[in-house]
Amino acid sequence: MNFIPSYIELLHNGELYKRAEKAYASLASCTSCPRDCNVDRINDEYGICTSGHLPIVSSYTPHFGEEPVLSGTSGAGNIFFGNCNLKCIYCQNFEISQNPKIEKQKEVSHNRLAEIMIELQSKACHNIGLVSPTHFSATILKSIYLAAQQGLKLPIIYNTNGYDSVEMLKHYDGVIDIYLPDFKYGNSEYAKTYSLVDNYFEKTKEAIKEMYRQVGDELVYDGDIVVRGLIIRHLILPNDLSDTEKVFKFIAEELSPNVHISLMSQYYPTNKAYKDILIDRALRNSEYNKALQLLEKYGLHNGWIQEMESANNYKPQFNQDRLNPFKN
Ligand code: SF4
Repeated sequence: MNFIPSYIELLHNGELYKRAEKAYASLASCTSCPRDCNVDRINDEYGICTSGHLPIVSSYTPHFGEEPVLSGTSGAGNIFFGNCNLKCIYCQNFEISQNPKIEKQKEVSHNRLAEIMIELQSKACHNIGLVSPTHFSATILKSIYLAAQQGLKLPIIYNTNGYDSVEMLKHYDGVIDIYLPDFKYGNSEYAKTYSLVDNYFEKTKEAIKEMYRQVGDELVYDGDIVVRGLIIRHLILPNDLSDTEKVFKFIAEELSPNVHISLMSQYYPTNKAYKDILIDRALRNSEYNKALQLLEKYGLHNGWIQEMESANNYKPQFNQDRLNPFKN
């Protein structure tokens, strides 16, 4: 790979170290996400994400299930963080996102997380994929700094649920080359019901605007692999609980119609989805087709579309194999 990730410059001019220190210090009154719990995580207080000051690594592996331009032939170097700042009742990763007592045992030091990044690089992964990093965003920067010192030279993907703090994202300006946010809902009431979170639509719009400000709407390639840019994922929910039209309208009108969209049809009811009749079923063809029409309506012409069959072949099983939950 010829691409030199942005953080190398920040490493050499001393800025990466300063950012890592500043971000970590903010854990003394945590506002790492828009929940703004203001708890002192350095001294073992816990907020809604039930996470301390050290990162929790539930699993890490070369992963082939991302968009083809990220997985390539050698896989994305994914690091799955435990716990979450959202509480989606249908979470497909609930075994690691909503199981804090078990996950606590998987805390690692900053140096260990840096070693994991180097290990994934040595396995020829195309990138480092931080999966669900938001609640550890204040602490992961330290590991990126340590890994960069130890020779990390892969672009880093920030693969987030979208409910991120703009202030924290600013610490990542020039560190992250690929933003891969979900945009789950165009309606904060649905987000409150199904992810137990306030103001999702408003806060996620702000966060994604900041990501867009940092990396723009063009994808930069090195060979067949994307090394820089923004890809927004949208999972279509049954009964239009994702309010897809509002999400697409925002992207087209307030960002750019050139932004790349990854439209996902893999929804299947799991976790506590059985408790709500509106979400307790797979997607229908008519709902999928409506989302496709909306892409066209708003002129969103770049990206990837999952075929409907994807719902049957994308079911991670974290409790069965920590080091290879996707069996790839
Ligand atoms: S990261 Fe956790 S503790 Fe911090 S504001 Fe968000 S939910 Fe609260």
